[in-house]
Amino acid sequence: MTKPQVSIPLDIPDVQVLKSEMTKAGELIITIESTKGTTVCQRCGKIIRKFHGYDDWVKIRYLSVFGHPTYLRYRPRRYRCENCDGHPTTTQRLDWHDPNSPNSYDYEQHILFQLINSTVGDVAVKQKLSYDRVLGILERQISDKVDWSRHTSIGTLGLDEIALRKGHRDFVVIVTARKNGCISILGVLPDREKSTVVEFLRSIPERLKKTIKTACSDMYEGYTEAIREELSHVRLVIDRFHVTRAYRDGLDTLRKSELKRLKKESSEQEYKLLKGNMWALRKDRRDLTVEEHKTLARLFRLSPDLKTAYDLQNQLTDIFDEHISVDTAKVKIEKWMVAVFKSGVKCFKDFIQTLDRWWDDILNYFVDRQTSGFVEGFNNKLKVLKRRCYGITNLANLFRRIYLDNEGYRLLA
Ligand SMILES: [Zn+2]
Repeated sequence: MTKPQVSIPLDIPDVQVLKSEMTKAGELIITIESTKGTTVCQRCGKIIRKFHGYDDWVKIRYLSVFGHPTYLRYRPRRYRCENCDGHPTTTQRLDWHDPNSPNSYDYEQHILFQLINSTVGDVAVKQKLSYDRVLGILERQISDKVDWSRHTSIGTLGLDEIALRKGHRDFVVIVTARKNGCISILGVLPDREKSTVVEFLRSIPERLKKTIKTACSDMYEGYTEAIREELSHVRLVIDRFHVTRAYRDGLDTLRKSELKRLKKESSEQEYKLLKGNMWALRKDRRDLTVEEHKTLARLFRLSPDLKTAYDLQNQLTDIFDEHISVDTAKVKIEKWMVAVFKSGVKCFKDFIQTLDRWWDDILNYFVDRQTSGFVEGFNNKLKVLKRRCYGITNLANLFRRIYLDNEGYRLLA
């Protein structure tokens, strides 16, 4: 008995279908022929129409139909140039197939879409393709460098680093443009040496350099000096994210030493309870549960210093949360430093030195409060990508992966 049949249009321009057949293995093979009567001479670049003959049959992967692996089969047409000496021939260029690829263009776009926020290995398994074939698609379809012509302005330039391998301190630097809540990747630098950053900054076209208003980075001379030298018109801002981390580290140090002390001084049961709930200290105050409030209160009774430091930390966070001018922020943070000094807690000593060292660049945050959730969002995305892609030591492919994860839905949807 024949099953019910459907016919669906083949979404490829300028071809006719000669035959379609289903193999015993359940593969759909569609034999087609190009109906385009011209191509461009590879030597002189003129349109040529003189048909010369066919190349050998090629079979390329196409979008699956009803779950059946589907292939297009065709013979590339060859044309002869009557202008050029020796009348060279050229194989016809087609919009739907790159002659270096075993796949149609649509199929490659489909695989790219699958690759967004996934891994090459994962997509290879699901699509029953080899790892190298998926990687080949990524390498063919996504450029390993930024296409400056796609950018009209940069706005805020961001420099962030990630350690590629667990426990290693070999950083790569991710350069981004942040504009209107959107982040786009501009480059992946092999290390965070000043000279490397300088070299990259010099590669930015002059017309785009002029559009950079702000540069955000961590407190690291390799970045800040490169920015000051190469982009002297740009306001340098230390990302709030890094400032926050620096003063949280202060509280963290105190937490560890206090915990050590309490281990000696309190009962085992009490200590266990405290230790198990320490992370409440790191939580956003607004998200604390009633139970966590109680634990903190218990902890603070045993360690008044920790309470003092915790309150000071929160005061500083409040200052950074306020929409205030640079001058107001300056006064408030100076007052905060006095409060730290008077309190007698020592855990912010390093942080206050950091504040002194980077004072103006940290205060620049209040000019237009550049750093916001979306930078942290992007950093989180990078962290996830890093975890997924341990072993991507090929920086060109790392660029491609970040580009695809970050912009894939916009590009391919
Ligand atoms: Zn020619």
